[in-house]
Amino acid sequence: MAIYNPSSLKAEEFINHEEILETLAYADAHKNDRALIDEILEKARPQKTATGYVCKGLSHREASVLLANDDPEVREEIYKIAEEIKLAFYGNRIVIFAPLYLSNYCVNGCLYCPYHLKNKHIPRKKLTQEEVKAEVIALQDMGHKRLAIEAGEDPKNNPIEYILDCIKTIYSVHHKNGDIRRVNVNIAATTVENYRKLKDAGIGTYILFQETYNKESYLYLHPTGPKHDYDYHTEAMDRAMAGGIDDVGLGVLFGLEGYRYEFAGLLMHAEHLEAVHGVGPHTISVPRVKKADDIDPDAFDNGIDDETFAKITACIRLAVPYTGMIISTRESEQVRSKLLRLGISQVSGGSRTSVGGYTQEERPHDTEQFDVSDQRSLDEVVRWLMENGHIPSFCTACYREGRTGDRFMSLCKSGQILNCCHPNALMTLTEYLEDYASPATKAIGYEMVERELQRIPKEKVRAIAKDHIEAIKNSNRRDFRF
Ligand code: SAM
Repeated sequence: MAIYNPSSLKAEEFINHEEILETLAYADAHKNDRALIDEILEKARPQKTATGYVCKGLSHREASVLLANDDPEVREEIYKIAEEIKLAFYGNRIVIFAPLYLSNYCVNGCLYCPYHLKNKHIPRKKLTQEEVKAEVIALQDMGHKRLAIEAGEDPKNNPIEYILDCIKTIYSVHHKNGDIRRVNVNIAATTVENYRKLKDAGIGTYILFQETYNKESYLYLHPTGPKHDYDYHTEAMDRAMAGGIDDVGLGVLFGLEGYRYEFAGLLMHAEHLEAVHGVGPHTISVPRVKKADDIDPDAFDNGIDDETFAKITACIRLAVPYTGMIISTRESEQVRSKLLRLGISQVSGGSRTSVGGYTQEERPHDTEQFDVSDQRSLDEVVRWLMENGHIPSFCTACYREGRTGDRFMSLCKSGQILNCCHPNALMTLTEYLEDYASPATKAIGYEMVERELQRIPKEKVRAIAKDHIEAIKNSNRRDFRF
């Protein structure tokens, strides 16, 4: 029997099944131990320091106890701390991105995904470089600066060379004032050599959802194709880091397996990355299974209601305070509104999940990966964020300044967010307002920029930011970021 060891490079040792079962039993045994709960909540709270805040985070066992507790009073306290942590380390900024589907050719047999090989009636499509260019122009015309590219796994149709060509094309398009400044990549688990090629192509985060940490369920849900190999998939982030990618994004697809099992596994994966590479995941995504072409989410037994989903999100926030958290347009405006108060730091907007969808007048469904719940335009999402007190940020400065991996984490921990990320967010928001916003969004946006500028603590930084914002408004942009 494998023994739990977060520093091991073997999947069965760092995502150890017995340890997860013991964690769930421990959480059940202690879920009503009020003294322990209070101790865990105390540990999770951000502590004020001379320069900002620090947080200890929680172990997978501690966080699992909180998740198992069902006292509404405790839940409200968890929510309160989750919001405090988000504001302490990320401020009121919300980073914006969009997915870009390159190809839905896939040789895998994933039971929850309509791109599975046996689906013979879904049209298969792969963008040509001309089509990639057209999609990028459409995305730039919406105002996007940050993309997550998506593709099925198919070594013949979507080899790494194809993905690299697409990345090159994306970075090469400069339409009007537009450019894509950060390309995150969500493609199947691959080799160290290929991860190195992705790194050399200048990618931002490498994202790979585990789907489920439960090996038995994983093997059942991925019956055929290269993705069937649980260990190869689970150990992918270590290969990505060995290939030089230091920002990696984790996630599970909630609904496939018991959520408490997934939650413990996800946090153990984060602990493993920290133990081996000295830096935890850059982001964690929380997708739920959605209706899709030949996929019925009700066919899976482990669907979770909105309240449980919110609690999972908040408990992740407490456990890994410095990790960015992403919610996509799989979720409705209502669910997203709630989660934005519980630790989410990145949202997608104006998304289309079909191959070539951005250049179509109407939202196409033929090659779509799943149903999008939040179908609002990017302009509407940006306005809604501001109406709710969040600053929509199009900033990509950390990546462009080489502040990735532990260098990003140090900034996050330094308490300098208000003197660095905050002005960068306001400058990039101003670019968006000038170039793409509707009059209503522009009006509320400029009020927000004025107000938020006053919150920059260092006078000198405030003055520089103000000067650049004026320059952007007067069509005199300089390539500047803090
Ligand atoms: N083929 C790559 C892989 O295997 O990781 C890229 C992933 S795919 C384009 C992006 C993610 O969409 C998957 O990892 C999965 O979690 C999610 N997904 C697939 N089917 C879904 C569905 N029906 N509802 C919601 N999300 C789904």
